[in-house]
Parts: sequence; structure tokens; C-alpha cells
Amino acid sequence: MQYQVDTHTHTVASSHAYSTIHDYIAVAKQKGIRLFANTDHGPDMADAPHFWHFVNLRVLPRMVDGVGILRGIEANIKNIDGEIDFFGDYLKQLDIVLAGFHEPVYPPSDKATHTKAMINAIKSGNVDIITHPGNPAYPIDIEAVARAAAEYGVALEINNSSFEVSRKGSEANCTAIAQAAKEFGTILVMGSDSHVAFSLGGFTRAQAIIDEVAYPPSRLLNRSPSALLAFLAARGHETVSDLIALFNDDDDIGDGANN
Ligand SMILES: [Zn+2]
Ligand SMILES: [Zn+2]
Repeated sequence: MQYQVDTHTHTVASSHAYSTIHDYIAVAKQKGIRLFANTDHGPDMADAPHFWHFVNLRVLPRMVDGVGILRGIEANIKNIDGEIDFFGDYLKQLDIVLAGFHEPVYPPSDKATHTKAMINAIKSGNVDIITHPGNPAYPIDIEAVARAAAEYGVALEINNSSFEVSRKGSEANCTAIAQAAKEFGTILVMGSDSHVAFSLGGFTRAQAIIDEVAYPPSRLLNRSPSALLAFLAARGHETVSDLIALFNDDDDIGDGANN
């Protein structure tokens, strides 16, 4: 059975991506994806939508034809203090907040600085999921990050597109992250990081890494829509709790003996 939840997608609002919300819904229905997050690049990134894009996400329905849509952002970690390019009450209006390092906003420096910046973002309470922490352009102290993420209840992403189109050479880091996450009780999530709808829910390479270290599927946020929604509700996103009732998760992947 395939995973039905994808937390990381980009639309034409970032013009280096090529699909609309409608395209994603159509592919979701085709592939049996039941819940996905719309997470365009934070406003400080080159080619990102304007700040207002995120403020006005409130016009998006949360359910269309049985597909759940979360209003989100892939924000940029901006500095060693772990600040991101979205803030205040506006953050509370989003359903899901991803954040990661991107060269145009925060050029790589050294391992100690990257580690501090990432851990400060984790501690800030503003970020639910750290995107592509295995990026070899930004070496981090994997054990320290995995421990901090576990302590603060932040999920680390195994980014499928890191093995396909970007961030070449992520495999070793991602395997080490999955291993550390298993050891320290850190939550993991797979993200397709789709820049076109066809790749929505595509996790083949990320799943191979998770399987390789035998990370427990029962702790993977993709295991069911309500698993992700419960995680987000516990992190203080109030509105998503209303969505949980809309999903019947009898087929929660982490529950079965046959996984
Ligand atoms: Zn992008
Ligand atoms: Zn990214």
C-alpha cells in the first residue's frame, strides 16, 4: 500500500514550479493521495510568491472532492538565530510550516553554524518540519539535530527529490538522519518536494532509506491523514483539528502487521 499523505509541494506561485492547485487535486485523485500540503517558498527566496500569497491562503478550501489541502509554506531559515521569513500572527493562520536552508537566502558557511541555525529554528516553536536536512551543501551535526527535533517535537524530512533532481549526494546524510531519528525517537516525514504535480506522493527513494534503517512506520507522519493532522494540532495549529474527523484511517499504515 502506498503512502497517501504528502507534506511538500510547490505551485506556479513559485515560477520555477509548473502546476496549479487544480493540477495537484487531479493527480491526488488519480493516485489516491488523500491529504497534501501546499508549501510554496517563503517570500525571501528568489522566485518566491509575495508575502500576501501566504496571507490569502485562507481562500483555499481545505477539502475538494475528498482530497484534503493544507495551507502551508516552505519558509527559509535566515540566520544563526533560526529566524524564518514568515512571522507573528500570520504564522498561526497557516496549517503547516516547513523551513529549510536555501542558498539564495542563507549561503552555506560551516557545520557548527548550520547546526546552530537549524537547532534554533527547531527550538523557536515556529517550524513543524525541517526540509531536506540531509542537503550535503549544509553539513550539520546530525545527532545533535535529531536529538533537538525529538525533544521539541519537530519532524525531519526525508526529501524524495534530493535523490532525483536536486541536492545530489544526499543519500549518506539522509541514511544517517533516519538512523539517528530511529535511535532518538525523532519523527520523520517523507516529502516529494514536487515542483510539478506528476511527482505528488512519489516517495520511492525516500522510502528505500527509511526501510534500509528499519525506521518504524508507526512514527512516520505519512502513515495516515489523521496522523499528520494530530501532529499539527498538537503543535498548536487549531484549525486542522476540524479536519481530522473527515478522514477514516482504518488503513493507517503504521497500525498493520503487514508493513
Ligand atoms: Zn523550489
Ligand atoms: Zn527546499
